[in-house]
Amino acid sequence: MTLGVPFVYLQGVEKRFSVDSSAVAVVALNGVDLGVQRGEFVCLVGPSGCGKSTLLNVVAGLESTSAGQVLLEGEPITEPGPDRLMVFQEAALFPWLSVVQNVEFGLWSQGMDRRERKKLAREFLRIVNLSRFENALAHELSGGMKQRVAIARALAMKPKVLLMDEPFASLDAQTRDRLHEDLQNIWRATGKTILFVTHNVDEAVYLGDRVVIFTAHPGRIKREVKIPLSRPRHKQDPALAEMARLIVDELREEVWETEREELGLTEDEQNGERWELVRKRLEELEFL
Ligand code: ADP
Ligand code: MG
Repeated sequence: MTLGVPFVYLQGVEKRFSVDSSAVAVVALNGVDLGVQRGEFVCLVGPSGCGKSTLLNVVAGLESTSAGQVLLEGEPITEPGPDRLMVFQEAALFPWLSVVQNVEFGLWSQGMDRRERKKLAREFLRIVNLSRFENALAHELSGGMKQRVAIARALAMKPKVLLMDEPFASLDAQTRDRLHEDLQNIWRATGKTILFVTHNVDEAVYLGDRVVIFTAHPGRIKREVKIPLSRPRHKQDPALAEMARLIVDELREEVWETEREELGLTEDEQNGERWELVRKRLEELEFL
């Protein structure tokens, strides 16, 4: 690693999308500067459409930048690579393959021989607590188990950076809690560098060393909050709730701004004046 340069380093990153040959481009990222240390767990939160997925895609090399650059260990990222793997909301497993075959697949495509890749796949299935299901077919698994396979599959490739885009967003609360605990332990055991996108502030403060809050539009970093709590962390820790409240307050403004833009509302309308008008109208209609 180049001395003084963060492990993952976004410098003045801008990303514009041109839509339907229109001259007006969507600005998804605008002057984003972010440094991530090796082994750090960084969570990104912000309202829908603020550019969180775009940021992960740029680090993954799936999208190019319009300006600025992204470095990994001081080297510019220009294309996708097995050193930066993504875990999505939907695990996208091969449904007809077994659990262990799904984990082996990437290793096979890298030319690893059968015995070695089986051994490695089993090792990582053990880490995510799925050893007993190695021969189950992927389509037979619950949502939480599928995400466990996706995590094992990514870790087995020994990426330098794990990119997680709302990986637990479609799980029920109890399953999500269990995966939080396990991901916390996996991170402690592996020391992986993780960039984790979420809508869920409680999740962000529980998991992250740092929470990066994005502005509504266009995607800029509004504030970074360090979570200076040691691990293992416990969900019930009042200090976590306190940090979450701080971040929710910051986010609320951004979410409301997004809503005003989307629905074309004024601040007054959004703040409740609208409800006074609704009530009057219902009265006129003799509804009340
Ligand atoms: P988030 O993940 O925070 O919800 P995204 O990164 O998906 O937000 O999107 C940021 C902005 O960029 C949005 O306005 C979205 O519509 C736009 N965008 C994302 N991907 C594309 C694309 N491939 N083409 C055009 N616009 C895009
Ligand atoms: Mg997204």
